[in-house]
Amino acid sequence: MKVCKFGGSSVADAKQIKKILNIINNDATRKYIVVSAPGKRHNKDVKVTDLLIALVEAVTYKKDYQELISQILERFLQIERELNIRHSLIETFRTQLNDYIMRYQDQPERLTDALKSCGEDFNAQLIASYNNEQGIMTTYLSPGDIGLIVSDEPSNAIVLEESYEKIKNNLAHAEGKVIIPGFFGVNKNGDINTFSRGGSDITGAIIASSLSSDVYENFTDVSGIFSANPNIVDHPASIIQLTYEEMRELSYAGFSVFHDEALLPVYRSQIPVNIKNTNDPDHPGTLITNTRQSTGVVGVSCDTGFASINMKKYLMNREIGFTRRLLSILEDMNISYEHMPSGIDDISIILRAHQLEGKEAKLLEKIEHELKVDALSIEKNIAILMVVGLGMKTLVGTANKATEAFKARNINLKMINQGSSEISMMFGIEDKDADQAVIAAYEAYFTH
Ligand code: ASP
Repeated sequence: MKVCKFGGSSVADAKQIKKILNIINNDATRKYIVVSAPGKRHNKDVKVTDLLIALVEAVTYKKDYQELISQILERFLQIERELNIRHSLIETFRTQLNDYIMRYQDQPERLTDALKSCGEDFNAQLIASYNNEQGIMTTYLSPGDIGLIVSDEPSNAIVLEESYEKIKNNLAHAEGKVIIPGFFGVNKNGDINTFSRGGSDITGAIIASSLSSDVYENFTDVSGIFSANPNIVDHPASIIQLTYEEMRELSYAGFSVFHDEALLPVYRSQIPVNIKNTNDPDHPGTLITNTRQSTGVVGVSCDTGFASINMKKYLMNREIGFTRRLLSILEDMNISYEHMPSGIDDISIILRAHQLEGKEAKLLEKIEHELKVDALSIEKNIAILMVVGLGMKTLVGTANKATEAFKARNINLKMINQGSSEISMMFGIEDKDADQAVIAAYEAYFTH
């Protein structure tokens, strides 16, 4: 049995919906289907979720919002018309939008999450209804119906442990195809809370894990994951197979095909994830698994916008508790970090620079005061480039390939760090060199 998730572009209009139903209906093992809200039909189009966010704003700032309601319903109406749906759901959808607006007009966070959930919710109802009209037994079940209980953190909910058992029991006897809206769950009081953006991937992962699915098929509009950002490298090779761990290490720019929070449930229950293309369903796509036969570097990823806080202290290596105190300062200030390269008497903390907004002066002062460092500096505009692959553990000369390539393009290396599991290498460079460095590293590992 498979759990399948279809992203926004896969369910953006009637043509795409027919494609996904073909994919589902032609395979008896594709039983549990999670759908996104209608996404972009072309480059300039607006996702339904973004229209819903605009609606929240209009309601909150007491602007006229009727036009937005019409625009949102028009998207669904067009799908209904093109699918020749006999029993229109548009008036039910209109009532639901207005109900939420009435009920939550003085609770901005509740309003946001309730309205944001409508894109997925309406689409799932519509798709289920159409499939039924085609004579295929199909049930629409909402996250509330199946027991997908989440924490009460609006727009950033996290699944509660109890959900897995509930979902398993509630879905055990479902008949025919089951269509479930992605992106949201309900808290213990039954209020809607959404996951972070792109969160339908998370819903699919939770359901796949609850049901011990043989595979979690994640359908999108590309044939798998590329070994480098396709916006930077011209036609990069696609990855046939990689591990959950490698996927995590690659989670910087260009690898956003699969939501990083969606990896955890499938990783814990070791369910393979298959990233596939709705527009080319026979293409094998990319398989994410627990292990694989390692064959060297699998991908290169890079992100800009990091800062490095560098400190030096004579005999730092002998000062017991130095790093613990440093990390406590970060914890107290609610700052997370990405990497921590160190030497005998110096250490750097690399973090996302936006986290320093409004906190930088205080953070530096605390480090200076509490750790009594000899030198302290902060460097911004840093890019982090990751070279990832299980196989590099045993290959001689992996780092050399990248450093040679950087040298040839006159890219200055600020830091190098290898994770202790030896499946990744981190290179710190200047923001301005990021794209060139990705091209250089890609060519070094994949074209020579
Ligand atoms: N529709 C939501 C978004 O645009 C969730 C998703 O598509 O996964 O973020």
